[in-house]
Amino acid sequence: MGSSPCDRPTFSSYSEAARKRWADPVYRARTCAAFSRAGLKRRGRKRPPFSKEWCQNLSAAARGKKRGPCTKERSQNISFALKGRKLTKECRERISRALKDRGPFTKEHRESLSRAQMGRKHTEREKENMRRRRAKQVFPLRDTKIEVLTRSHLHFLGVSFRKHAEIVGMRRLGIFHQFDVMLPARRMVIEVDGCYWHGCRKHIKKQNGMHKRNRARDRKIDRAACSLGWKVIRLWEHEIKVGDFSKLRIALSPA
Ligand SMILES: [Zn+2]
Repeated sequence: MGSSPCDRPTFSSYSEAARKRWADPVYRARTCAAFSRAGLKRRGRKRPPFSKEWCQNLSAAARGKKRGPCTKERSQNISFALKGRKLTKECRERISRALKDRGPFTKEHRESLSRAQMGRKHTEREKENMRRRRAKQVFPLRDTKIEVLTRSHLHFLGVSFRKHAEIVGMRRLGIFHQFDVMLPARRMVIEVDGCYWHGCRKHIKKQNGMHKRNRARDRKIDRAACSLGWKVIRLWEHEIKVGDFSKLRIALSPA
């Protein structure tokens, strides 16, 4: 170690407690690291190479210590550093051993996971991410009853359609959305809106924040589709349930 500040041997003026603390390698390494950081900052000097003992001390100090929050910059640095790097054989074996021993989640673990989620609401950002993922799904959510009814009516009218389709170019406008039904030949999309989720004026008298947000989103989608030359037809749940497809018939009838 030679000239490193860690080796300062004069303890004469230190208390017994201080000496004991200093004898602890973890404490010593931490303090030395802090000293050297401070010194480096002050003098702008280049760091001397770490001795073996010093490295061991540092790793002992870091063991079990939690890192601060991973900033974006840090995670980028890590990913750059790891890019194109291959794991050593030993490392790969270690990982595979660890995975082999893990086994399925225990019941307790699953319960604790679900407890952690309980009562937690998704943030707007999470919701947007979910929408994005859903828009890319080949087989999205299960079809709702009103969607099925609408499609069977289209079958009855003899109109061919696609379901759960995206309009090309919508993503570029920042909108990730699959339309319930698409009639590509007519450049027309049909949205089937549930009364509760989309807040129809007839059944939802008191519009809350969710309804306002959803309606605003619907309008945004309509505008985007319109700007790309598509026509959007919105059918309400209460219309479909009584078999009122007049909007659809009017839109489909040759003008
Ligand atoms: Zn309604």
